[in-house]
Amino acid sequence: MRIRLSPHHLESIQSLAVSQFEEIRKIRRELHRHPELSGYETWTAEYLSKKLIAAGLVVRNHVGGHGILADLVVDPGKPTMALRVDMDALPIQETNRVPYRSKIEGIMHACGHDVHSAIGVGVANILSSLRDDLPGNIRFIFQPEEEEITGALRMIHDGALTNPEPAAVLGLHVAPIPAGQVAWTDGLFLSGFDHYLVSLSPRKDQSFHLGHLSTIASRCCHAIQSLNRWKLPETWDQMEAFWRLMQTGPEELKNFIVYDASLDEEDPDAWPGQFGVGVKAASPSLRKTAFGKIRATLNKICRMTHTQYEITKMGSMIDMRNHAGLVQSTLPALESALGKQHITQLNAAFPFNCEDFAFFAKRIPGAMYWLGAADPSQGKYALLHTPDFDVDEHCLVTGTVAMATLLWEAFNINLQPS
Ligand SMILES: [Zn+2]
Repeated sequence: MRIRLSPHHLESIQSLAVSQFEEIRKIRRELHRHPELSGYETWTAEYLSKKLIAAGLVVRNHVGGHGILADLVVDPGKPTMALRVDMDALPIQETNRVPYRSKIEGIMHACGHDVHSAIGVGVANILSSLRDDLPGNIRFIFQPEEEEITGALRMIHDGALTNPEPAAVLGLHVAPIPAGQVAWTDGLFLSGFDHYLVSLSPRKDQSFHLGHLSTIASRCCHAIQSLNRWKLPETWDQMEAFWRLMQTGPEELKNFIVYDASLDEEDPDAWPGQFGVGVKAASPSLRKTAFGKIRATLNKICRMTHTQYEITKMGSMIDMRNHAGLVQSTLPALESALGKQHITQLNAAFPFNCEDFAFFAKRIPGAMYWLGAADPSQGKYALLHTPDFDVDEHCLVTGTVAMATLLWEAFNINLQPS
């Protein structure tokens, strides 16, 4: 397949990404020092907004909460591509002893959203300085509240995908794979989930102590957990092996189901006999299969313990799927920008997380990429949501080059419905 982005522009993107490394690293570190929880991204939004105005973009603040829309307008008559990055942090106490350690007690950028936002500014700087040659406009979507999976919808309802409507949207997320690497898929990127509440009660002809219900509930949770074939890798070695398996993509992993069932951890006896069940699966039909298995497990235990149950759906989230045409047609440009040896195809999704980028990608063609961020030799494993999460900051260059290249190349392709 032909690359339409010219070698000259590709070189400009690469050299600008390298020359602004110190500046982008500084931005990442500032964000890392000032993490803010979902819905509270005030300082972050103000800080990023200034950077985007300085890059020459038209900035709109307070979009769907603390979201920012920043438009690089080349010609309003030309198409627009969008880049979405997220901004929020997590309620985790950082244990890293680094100069840019979180200054906020109990809050930390442990999911790399500081990295994503810094890359967003990096791409804005580069494409703004090349605007005279850019084939269209770019909308930068800086999204809050990703961890609560509420920010994307709030921004969409507040106009993130209108005036103009972008032709496609791209995004990225750091991953526990070596820095310098980018991993892609043209299918499921991260699955959605279903959440249920189960309430146990004694059968009409039975009566027993409520404490007994908690014991039965805990037995149900244990039985549902034991349906799991897949477990979240916890060490670097386990994670490495898991990502190798995702590359191979065996059918059993392609068709994953992940179950979660737990009593209220803080006070298991607060609501005797009640517990939550969560299901993530590779497709909506597998989620149905999972629901059947949960019911079968509950039926069995309730029969044996003279109890009955009610199961109520409390919430759900859609799958995040990449647009195959968008990913495939821009792949040669990505390979050319980073070197083929740095690009990895995944043949199965990571089964343990979800992403509200799904709501953007549901409305317009979208694609997300995994950005390698680990350097085990420096003790930086990029294991998401852990207190010692940290990245090899060279991933800032890789991420900036990847996103700037993909956005530019996306103007050159004809997008068909996925
Ligand atoms: Zn994240």
